[in-house]
Amino acid sequence: MVSINDNYLKLPESYLFSDIKKKVNTFKELHPEAHVISLGIGDVTRPLVPVLIEALHAAVDEMGHTETFRGYGPEQGYRFLQEKIVACDFHARGVDIDADEIFISDGAKSDLGNIGDILSVKNRVAVTDPVYPVYVDTNVMGGRAGVLERDGQHWSHIIYLPCTAGNHFIPELPAERPDIIYLCYPNNPTGTTLSKAELKKWVDYALENDSLILFDAAYEAFIHDENIPHSIYEIENAKKIAIEFRSFSKTAGFTGLRCGYTVVPKELKLYNCSGEKISANKLWNRRQTTKFNGVSYIVQRAAEAIYSPVGRAQIQESIEYYMNNARLLKTALQDRGLQIYGGDNAPYIWVKTPNGLSSWKFFDRLLYECYIVGTPGIGFGPSGEGYFRLTAFGRYEDTIESISRIRNWDL
Ligand code: PLP
Repeated sequence: MVSINDNYLKLPESYLFSDIKKKVNTFKELHPEAHVISLGIGDVTRPLVPVLIEALHAAVDEMGHTETFRGYGPEQGYRFLQEKIVACDFHARGVDIDADEIFISDGAKSDLGNIGDILSVKNRVAVTDPVYPVYVDTNVMGGRAGVLERDGQHWSHIIYLPCTAGNHFIPELPAERPDIIYLCYPNNPTGTTLSKAELKKWVDYALENDSLILFDAAYEAFIHDENIPHSIYEIENAKKIAIEFRSFSKTAGFTGLRCGYTVVPKELKLYNCSGEKISANKLWNRRQTTKFNGVSYIVQRAAEAIYSPVGRAQIQESIEYYMNNARLLKTALQDRGLQIYGGDNAPYIWVKTPNGLSSWKFFDRLLYECYIVGTPGIGFGPSGEGYFRLTAFGRYEDTIESISRIRNWDL
């Protein structure tokens, strides 16, 4: 008899996106003539910029010649990409990170899930609420979440840090000490950010309490405001307590190409069961060299191209395209008297549902009255109830059409 990891059975089916799909399909059957626009997806719609296509072609050609062919690469990633990342993402911001602290991956989601491999099942986990569901679900799989409470929303062993309009979406320090704290800024789903001073509070808390911060900076490229930190390492001593996750998915349209990286500082020490300090960098390196064979050479060459002057200009144009969508959507919704959050330094807009509508009720109305699909806030956690997420990743034409429908909406 082969036993399974029973924790997997604790996970309820992920109903959110299948429920959305079902509702949209029903609507389409009833209204085959309606042009439904999706502003619910977290995927990009713009194609890869030319500099990436050139880099991909050049790398493909290299693979066809004996002299330039590449087989297995370093599990941690090629030096050419690690060095570009260090220079452009960190040194340029006055942050001292070493190339050996950068681990290139096939995207942030894998690393956010896999990081649990090096962390004890006994650790207590805290998440902001609402939250990117991967943090919670991977801890359920890893046995750190306890059991699902009767409300079907909370896990008994997870500490929830509510983020609502009531606290301006700034999580309060926990009353109970967590070992591991997930922070995601700019935030998915709320589109809100933390200032340096606010982030410093968390770094100081983690330093005082020997906690580990897992900092997800997947949307860092969308920050416009100069006072908002792009990296947790902009805060003094953060290298002692934080691991940072980055992704090229939204920054440069790599959702299909797949590439990102994780920073595991050498200064970060964790503890073994005897209380001895262990290097997180060495542990993660051991994990990666054993279980991962690196990202393809071709994709890493494309990622490198993002950092060239032309590459930077081209991806910035795409980012501006999405942020222009965000601005237009935000203004239209505000003009209709809705309370809107996010959308300034992130491609997500977090709408307070009007008149106390539940997030699903708002979903139904937006679908049936405007033919627009978004994501109900409750799908991101209990504190998401009463909110709704729209994304700026749609096509400009669809965003403009949505706005015209919202402007004429009998709210
Ligand atoms: N982190 C957050 C907060 C996200 O919203 C997403 C994707 O939507 C990811 C990570 C996953 O990124 P990747 O495509 O690099 O796996």
